[in-house]
Amino acid sequence: MQYRIGIDLGGTAVKSGIVDENHQVVFRHSQPSDHNFERAVAGLAEAVETVAAMAGLRVSDFPCVGVGIPSTVNPHTKRLVFANNTGWRDVPIGEALEQRLGIPVYIGNDANCAVIGEALAGAAKGRKNVVMLTLGTGVGGGILLDGRLFTGGDGMGVELGHTPLLHGGYRCTCGIEGCLEGYASVTALIRQTRQAMEEHPESALHAYVAEHGGQVDGRTAFDCAQAGDEAAAAVVDQYLEYLANGIGGLITIFRPEIFLLGGGLSAQGENLTRPLSEKVLRYVYSSDLIGVPPIVTATLGNAAGTIGAAYLDRM
Ligand SMILES: [Zn+2]
Repeated sequence: MQYRIGIDLGGTAVKSGIVDENHQVVFRHSQPSDHNFERAVAGLAEAVETVAAMAGLRVSDFPCVGVGIPSTVNPHTKRLVFANNTGWRDVPIGEALEQRLGIPVYIGNDANCAVIGEALAGAAKGRKNVVMLTLGTGVGGGILLDGRLFTGGDGMGVELGHTPLLHGGYRCTCGIEGCLEGYASVTALIRQTRQAMEEHPESALHAYVAEHGGQVDGRTAFDCAQAGDEAAAAVVDQYLEYLANGIGGLITIFRPEIFLLGGGLSAQGENLTRPLSEKVLRYVYSSDLIGVPPIVTATLGNAAGTIGAAYLDRM
């Protein structure tokens, strides 16, 4: 059995895993991540050594290591270009880790790793043309075309969350106005929920949030809408309309065999995919003639990133 190592370098944790030939994570290890670059690289090396030891192997027994990172990375130069959560700019993360480990290191964007993982072992298993959006704090994206990861000429494209949704819209964290992320991320849903709450002090949504100490998360509007609150239902409906609009544009360009939704909000399952599948018809070119591909939620959760990272060298 040939084993591979994939790492998911998150804002709070470094998750490393050993992936077998059946694309299953057979050993996993998690440790806190560090925002200091030197210590972060040392931590990554430690995470690789620890999970290799769990499998009774040495680092040199592996062909390579893949690392998925929630930031803009250049897979050709193996440099991390910019990371929002750590403030790192243009750091040689791949090279620094290769020097420590003595084997090749491949780096990729975390959402790119997720789409690879889902195509190898999850909701898009066996599919060669796949588009995925991850709906979390931000909106990430990954595209497989003819079985290969598409990242653009310099490897830094496919920032699907930062494609235009509304002209003159809400200013995104990236500085551009009207990005999809500003309307379809969990952060955006929370903003929309709070706004509806303030506009409808008589609503069950308002009462629900007050009962929960003012806390609003990505589930609040969905839960209250399910319980029959109209203000919450309107928030969910508008949120899904924004998302359907964004998805419709991507389907029109790429015509994937399947469209995947991952990230925290994908836990909503059919509450998300059923209404989206209807709404998206209005945003896809010639959908009345050629239909739309199925929109489904990802199935592997965090494991998708680990599995995808372990196969970055093949993509
Ligand atoms: Zn943006």
